[in-house]
Amino acid sequence: MSKRDYYEVLGVAKDAGDDELKKAYRKLAMKYHPDRNPGDHTAEEKFKEANEAYEVLTDPQKRAVYDKYGHEGLQRGGGGGGFGDFGGAGGFADIFGDVFSDIFGGGRGGPRRGADLRYVIELSLEQAVFGSTESIRIPTMDECGDCHGHGTASGKKPSECPTCRGAGQVRVQQGFFVLQQTCPHCRGRGVTVTDPCKTCRGAGKVRREKTLEVKIPPGVDTGDRIRLSGEGEPGGPGAPAGDLYVQINVKPHEFFERDGSDLHCSVPVSLVTAALGGDVEIPTLAGKETLHVGEGTQNGKQFRLRGKGVKSVRGGPTGDLICTVLVETPVKLSKQQKELLRQFGESLAGEGGRNTPETSSWLGKARKFFERA
Ligand SMILES: [Zn+2]
Ligand SMILES: [Zn+2]
Repeated sequence: MSKRDYYEVLGVAKDAGDDELKKAYRKLAMKYHPDRNPGDHTAEEKFKEANEAYEVLTDPQKRAVYDKYGHEGLQRGGGGGGFGDFGGAGGFADIFGDVFSDIFGGGRGGPRRGADLRYVIELSLEQAVFGSTESIRIPTMDECGDCHGHGTASGKKPSECPTCRGAGQVRVQQGFFVLQQTCPHCRGRGVTVTDPCKTCRGAGKVRREKTLEVKIPPGVDTGDRIRLSGEGEPGGPGAPAGDLYVQINVKPHEFFERDGSDLHCSVPVSLVTAALGGDVEIPTLAGKETLHVGEGTQNGKQFRLRGKGVKSVRGGPTGDLICTVLVETPVKLSKQQKELLRQFGESLAGEGGRNTPETSSWLGKARKFFERA
């Protein structure tokens, strides 16, 4: 199946800046979040697609490779090492393999810095707003205890590779150039294992899970990343490990939708309360609040509760909570209730439109419109 263009996936222009990318990604992540679309595989695919596009386009190095060579360029590892993806919606076990196939499947040259890894962490809105400390389990490589890292069944040091004489790299003439390449015989390890250790199949390393504590600073939002330096894939001998990027994904909230530092929520209000006015209890992140709805409140009216929003991790003032009134038309009325409403309707008609100015003025305009036609 051909992959969709990353810019197209996010619906942004080729020159989109970080803010634009983040906004577009946030929208898609909210829309296609697995929590919002349980069992919907199309949504899940779209969610993953958006994640991938966002990851590549917000990494300057990878974006440059992508702009030049497209998807193929990234598959070749042109972005500098594989970028394993684990955690998040896909669960842990099934993606474990991806990270390690990258390590074993290698064949990339000599001592190299370990690849950066990404972990998608799902947070509730409260965790993102107030900050938290989360334990995450990520795959790592450890020295194999059975062979002490040598990869041999005997546990003794293996013999030097005859092809590269232990260097792990060979020189290859290619046209005018002499290139250093990973030794094809020992795959860069400099040694040959004739009797591979059964536990690690000669790799000298075994996979394990490690637990990391991640401090989530207050005010993070979907798309933000926390870098844990040196916690990525281990490097080759003498080379540093890659970094681990913990990417934030905020789960949809029951009441609130976040927009920058503001929070939005809908407040259903009965027709009677809207007409007569009254107090409505509403949730805020800080607890219960009472919202006074004035007499004659219309559907869609917004109330702004200052300072009841979010303080962004990037600073700035705390946002507001914006409550939008949803006047609810009563349903499943009994015969008697219907009769009362009819009587009420008649009483409105007797007032010559005084009680329903919007409707009256609209009807007036409509009448004139039809006369002209
Ligand atoms: Zn072993
Ligand atoms: Zn070799």
